[in-house]
Amino acid sequence: MYLEDNKLTAPDQTRRFHTRVVAQHRLSETGYELILERDGLEFKAGRLIMIHGRNVTEDRSYTVASGENDEHLHVLYRYIPTGKLTPQLINLKPGNTLEVSGPYGEFIIRDPARPLLFIATGTGVAPCRAYIRTHRDLDLTLIHGARVLDDLFYRHEFAPYKYHPCITQENGEAYRGRVTEFLKESKIDINSHAYLCGAYEMIYDVQDLLVERGMPAEHIFMEGYYYRLDM
Ligand SMILES: Cc1cc2nc3c(=O)[nH]c(=O)nc-3n(C[C@H](O)[C@H](O)[C@H](O)COP(=O)(O)OP(=O)(O)OC[C@H]3O[C@@H](n4cnc5c(N)ncnc54)[C@H](O)[C@@H]3O)c2cc1C
Repeated sequence: MYLEDNKLTAPDQTRRFHTRVVAQHRLSETGYELILERDGLEFKAGRLIMIHGRNVTEDRSYTVASGENDEHLHVLYRYIPTGKLTPQLINLKPGNTLEVSGPYGEFIIRDPARPLLFIATGTGVAPCRAYIRTHRDLDLTLIHGARVLDDLFYRHEFAPYKYHPCITQENGEAYRGRVTEFLKESKIDINSHAYLCGAYEMIYDVQDLLVERGMPAEHIFMEGYYYRLDM
């Protein structure tokens, strides 16, 4: 099934509502997971919600990191000290309310029967987590890049798949280097569909690399979250 079909059949109704914080977990030095009441919101795995701040300049998008049938909405986010919204999010406690809207976006699986190559940096792994919690029999290869091991969010949940963690700033049980370096040294199944998510710099580099290796450009899907602050 391709995007056009999904669009035609997409039942998700976009709406804006107040939700309640169920829990907040700190996953690493700067990584957090916010658990929100779902309030019946229907969404396709890979779509996102907007969290509304005090005014529109503080509204930010977050992929839902939980599955289509999960009880709650999970939001995986990184605390950006210089940012506008995330310094507010880290102070949220169970019972606090938050205004959200959604679902938005089209970063959904086009064809769950096809081998799926997912390449993420940092929190860009969120849609992949929604995919595995929704589609049980995925033929998934995940290449996930982060600075340190603790930022390889949900790594234990990805362990049953073909999972290739890459870290740049410490030695550990992972490839030492960027996802682009790992890819250059790896065999790629060009019949896969590729999903790239996270830093724009990685997305552009990986897109070029996959096309050079013979993957048709129309088999590559992308969701950019941010430009790196440290480049
Ligand atoms: C389609 C889409 C989906 C997104 N989904 C997620 C998600 O699931 N989880 C998530 O953490 N963010 C996600 N983002 C980014 C998110 O919307 C915010 O930009 C981010 O949470 C920072 O918000 P802020 O107001 O604190 O800082 P901002 O003022 O928005 O950002 C300040 C700077 O921080 C850097 N930055 C922003 N986000 C990140 C990040 N995640 N990791 C590293 N550096 C970053 C960028 O350089 C940015 O210019 C998504 C963005 C888009 C466009």
